[in-house]
Amino acid sequence: MTTPLKISPATLARLAKLGIHHRADLLLHLPLRYEDETHLAPVATVQPGMNAQVQGVITHSEVTFRPRRTLVCRLQDNGGELYLRFLNFYPSQQKQLAIGKQIRAVGEVRMGYYGLEMVHPKCRAVDDDTPLQQSLTPVYPATAGLSQTVLRKLIANALDTLPLADTLPEPLLKKLRLAGFADSVRLLHNPPPDVSAASLEQRSHAAWRRIKFDELLAQQLSMRVHHRERGKRIAPMLAPQHRLTAQLIKDLPFALTSAQQKVYAEIGRDLAQPHPMQRLLLGDVGSGKTVVAALAALQAIENGYQAAFMAPTEILAEQHYLKLRDWLAPLGLAPVWLSGSLKKKEKQLAAERIASGETLLAIGTHALFQEQVSFHRLGLAIVDEQHKFGVQQRLALHNKGKTAVGRASVRQDSVGLKPDLQEPHQLMMSATPIPRTLAMSYYADLDVSVIDELPPGRTPVVTKLVSDARRDEVFERVRAACMEGQQAYWVCPLIDESETLQLQTAIETHETLRAAFPELSVGLAHGKLDSAEKARVMAAFKAGELQLLVATTVIEVGVDVPNASLMVIDHAERMGLAQLHQLRGRVGRGTAESLCVLLYQQPLSELARARLKIVFESSDGFAIAQQDLQLRGPGELLGARQSGVAMLRFADISADEDLLNDAQQTADELLRDFPEAAQGHLQRWMANKHDYLHA
Ligand code: ADP
Ligand code: MG
Repeated sequence: MTTPLKISPATLARLAKLGIHHRADLLLHLPLRYEDETHLAPVATVQPGMNAQVQGVITHSEVTFRPRRTLVCRLQDNGGELYLRFLNFYPSQQKQLAIGKQIRAVGEVRMGYYGLEMVHPKCRAVDDDTPLQQSLTPVYPATAGLSQTVLRKLIANALDTLPLADTLPEPLLKKLRLAGFADSVRLLHNPPPDVSAASLEQRSHAAWRRIKFDELLAQQLSMRVHHRERGKRIAPMLAPQHRLTAQLIKDLPFALTSAQQKVYAEIGRDLAQPHPMQRLLLGDVGSGKTVVAALAALQAIENGYQAAFMAPTEILAEQHYLKLRDWLAPLGLAPVWLSGSLKKKEKQLAAERIASGETLLAIGTHALFQEQVSFHRLGLAIVDEQHKFGVQQRLALHNKGKTAVGRASVRQDSVGLKPDLQEPHQLMMSATPIPRTLAMSYYADLDVSVIDELPPGRTPVVTKLVSDARRDEVFERVRAACMEGQQAYWVCPLIDESETLQLQTAIETHETLRAAFPELSVGLAHGKLDSAEKARVMAAFKAGELQLLVATTVIEVGVDVPNASLMVIDHAERMGLAQLHQLRGRVGRGTAESLCVLLYQQPLSELARARLKIVFESSDGFAIAQQDLQLRGPGELLGARQSGVAMLRFADISADEDLLNDAQQTADELLRDFPEAAQGHLQRWMANKHDYLHA
C-alpha cells in the first residue's frame, strides 16, 4: 500500500505559494497544459508556434558569445534540421549535447536567427529503442524551486493515497450527465493515450467539464452559505414611517419613475428586517439612483438612526452633498460634509457632530470611514459607485458600522439585542451593470435591485467617431454649441495611468482651448485641485458661468449638469468601455439634443477599434457591459471587488454558462436535499479559502 510522501518544510512553503495548503489541494492542482511526448514529429514537418517532440543526432555544437554566452546545437533527423539554443547551461548539458549524440527534444518551435529553433527544450539522450511516453505529459503551474518532476511525484502520490469519493449524490450525477470526480481528476493528471489532446487543451473534455462544474458549484454554495449567515446576523429594524420619505417625494420637482418606486420598495422592505441588508442598486447612468439613496437614508433617519453616504471622488461626494442639502432643508435636516481635504479643524468638528449623534446624515468620501470618525448610531451605509472602492475601504465601512451600532445598542438592552452583534444595513450603488453570468456567480451573495428605465424626457445621445486629423472641425463644433448657449465637456486623455502626466495634459489642454476660444469662459477640473477650488469650478459650470469644462476623468462618475449637451472625449481609444459609457452619460441629461464626440488617434489597435465600435453602436449600458466581459474577462470588470473574491481557476463564466446554470440549480438542491454532500463539497473546494467575499 502506498503511503503519503513526507514533504519538507521548504517544499511546503513553495506549495503554499501555489495555493496548496492541504494534501487534498494537490488533487485540484490541475495541469495548465500538456506536452505530447507520445509521438515524434519529423523535423521537416514542424512549424513555428508548434509544441513538438523531435529526435535526431547532434551534428553541430558550439558556444557563441554574442549577444550572450549561448550553447547552440544543430539536431538533424532524416528529413530536416533544427537548432537548440540554451542561454544558461551546465557543462553536463554541453556534454550531453555533444556531436554524434542521439537526442530527443521537446519544446516550442520558433523562427530564430539560424532558422527553426527551440529555446531551452527539454532534452534527453536516447537509443533507437527508447520507448515513447504512453500518455500526454501534464505541465503544472509551478514556482521557483518546485520542479515539474517534484509536483508530478507529489500529485501522483496524492492520487494514490487520498480518498476521491464523489461529493455529488448518484442521482444528481445521472441527471446532470456528469463524469465521476475520481475518474475526472485521474484522467486530467494522467490522460490515457487515446484522449484527444484538443479536448484537453480547450478544456471541453468531459473530465474538465466535471471539474469546472464542481468549481462553480462550490462558488454557488459558498455564496449561499454567506447569504444565509447574513440572515442570522442582526441589524436595526428600520420600518418605513412614511414621514420624511413621503415629504421628500411630495417636494421633488419630478415624479419618481415606476422603476425608482419599485427599487425603493425593495430597499424599504429590507431595511425593516432585523438582518443586515446587503443590496446592490444597479441603474444605468442617469437613471436616478441618488434620489433612491436619499429615500433610504430618510427611512433610517425617521427611525432615529444615522445614515452615511459615501462616494469615491470628492467631486461626486460634494454634488451629493449639495443636492441632498437642498432636498432635505425643507425637512429640517442638515447633512454634514466630510472629506479628506477638509482642514483639520473642520474635520474634527464634523467628526464630533457624527459621534454625538447630532447629525443624522453624513456625506463624503471614504474619509467618512477613517478611524477618527465614529458613528453614534449608524443604521445605513450607502456606497455610491461601489465598484470604485477597494475591498479595504469597504471592510473599514463594514467594521465601523458594527462597532457604531453595537455601542448604540448597549442602551437598547431592554429590547433584548446583544450589543456588538448589530451591524448597519448596506446599500451599494453602481451604474456598471453586471452581466447575467457575473451576477449569478461573483455577486450571488448580494441582493440586487435594478432601475431599468430612464426618467422621461431624455433625448438619446448621438455618438460620433472622429479621427484626430479633424480636430479643427471639432473645435468649431464646440465653439458653435457654446455660442448657442449650450455647455460642453472636454475630457482629457488618460496617460498610461500616470497621474502627473495626465494632470499636465489637462493643464495644457485648458491653455490651448482658452487660447482657441477667447470668447468663451473655459474652466478646468481635475483631481488635484484643492476642494474649495474644485467646488467653485463645478458650481460655476452648473450655474452656466463656465461654458466649457476641461476635465480629467474625475468627472467620469456622477457629475450631473443637465444643460451640458456636448462632450468631447480626447484620445477615446485609450479609455475602457465602461469608462466611455460613463463619460458619455454626463450628457443627455436635459432636453437638448446631445452629442458625444469620440476623438481618436490613428492607428487603432484591434482592441481599441472593437471598443470604439461597441460604444458607437450601443447606448445600452447593459449590452456594453456584456461586451466588456467578452473583451476583457471577469477579472477587470470585477475591478476592486476582485481582490476580495476568489477568482475561478478553471471555469469561465462566459464560455461555461450552461454549467453555471446547472451549478446554480444544483446548489439549491444540494442544500435542500443533501446538506451533508454540500458540506463535503465545500470542504473539498474551499477548505482553506476564505469566504468568497468578506467585505
Ligand atoms: P444616476 O443614477 O446616474 O446617479 P442621478 O441620480 O444623478 O442618476 O439622476 C440623474 C438626473 O435625473 C438628476 O438630475 C436627477 O435629479 C434627475 N432625476 C432623477 N429621478 C428623476 C425622475 N423620476 N424624473 C426626472 N428626473 C429625475
Ligand atoms: Mg450617480
